[in-house]
Amino acid sequence: MSDVSSLGFNTRAIHAGQEPDPVTGAVVGGIIQSSTFAQDGIGQLRSGYEYGRGTNPTRDSLQAQLAAVEHGKHAFSFSSGLAAEDALIRAILRPGDHIVLGNDAYGGSYRLINRVLGPWGVTHSTADMASPEQVAAAATESSKLFWVETPSNPMMKITDIAALAELAHSHGALLLVDNTFASPYLQNPLDLGADIVVHSTTKYIGGHSDVIGGAVVVRDDELAEKIGFVQFAVGAVSGPMDAFLTTRGLKTLGVRMDRHSSNATQIAQWLQGRPGVEQVLYPGLPEHPGHELAKRQMKAFGGMISVQFAGGAAAARTVAESTKLFTLAESLGGIESLMNYPSEMTHASVKGTELAVPENLVRLSVGIEDASDLIDDLDAALKKI
Ligand SMILES: *Cc1c(COP(=O)(O)O)cnc(C)c1O
Repeated sequence: MSDVSSLGFNTRAIHAGQEPDPVTGAVVGGIIQSSTFAQDGIGQLRSGYEYGRGTNPTRDSLQAQLAAVEHGKHAFSFSSGLAAEDALIRAILRPGDHIVLGNDAYGGSYRLINRVLGPWGVTHSTADMASPEQVAAAATESSKLFWVETPSNPMMKITDIAALAELAHSHGALLLVDNTFASPYLQNPLDLGADIVVHSTTKYIGGHSDVIGGAVVVRDDELAEKIGFVQFAVGAVSGPMDAFLTTRGLKTLGVRMDRHSSNATQIAQWLQGRPGVEQVLYPGLPEHPGHELAKRQMKAFGGMISVQFAGGAAAARTVAESTKLFTLAESLGGIESLMNYPSEMTHASVKGTELAVPENLVRLSVGIEDASDLIDDLDAALKKI
């Protein structure tokens, strides 16, 4: 289906880029594993396909679906979220250019910008992206890109995307939103003025913890041409099997996010004020400083909760290692609940830097199991501290 502009989110997710196979009528598109495509004469391509690094039908189908759900015009899918970010940065920045990066960005994004692209000549400063004063102070003449996650990982900070887009544009920079935590079901940054959306599709979009992938979505044709060129010329593309799994996951994103959000709301309310719990960071709680903004900017509050414990690192580690349904593991966004101790796991790469995560914090990726079972599991773990 090519024109999806009048359709709702779930209809887009299920139909955009998903045509029955013209030859067999198969309702679910094939996984086209072929690396290359037959030509009828020299340079005479049968249906536009030539070589799999450049284009592949299974990847095209995912890219059309991603563009539709993120209200973009062009989407590019990659072998991982970080591969997507790397391609994007190298497509649009040059040595000497500067990034203003959120001071609680995903550790791997920070590592990429600091340790891979830094030596290559891209500079950066970090700031609390929710503070316009700090962002303005961090921006330089060379700033070309503002980079924000909202909700942020793992501090669950909410940033006003529309306001930040204006600020970025007033500095002659583009605004990039890493929309991994919210997912396109809960929030569409391009509608709020952002220029670029990136995703780790490994998380909510794939949704089943069985595939690694990433995406970049934009509206601007010129930006798209640059990103498409790097995708083709460097080649960190998603393979056909990975693209297929991601497409399958994305079709059910809406129903999953509704359940993630309602489970997380129940769990955050249950955690609030429990003995040993110092603070619950969840934008769905009225006490959260970003609650009103999140209500305006997001459809619901998502499945991620961070919890800080009064008993410090020891208490946090005990809880992290004591649950049975919540599996201790990196990553997030799958149907099964996961528990993470960021300072030693997902965010170990930023230990000792300005992005370090408090050691009394655990992060929950609340799955779509029955909330009452998840609460029983947390209850038993909290009794051990
Ligand atoms: C996981 C993650 C990434 C990196 O994605 P990979 O698929 O692991 O490469 C980037 N941003 C956020 C917010 C993430 O959670």
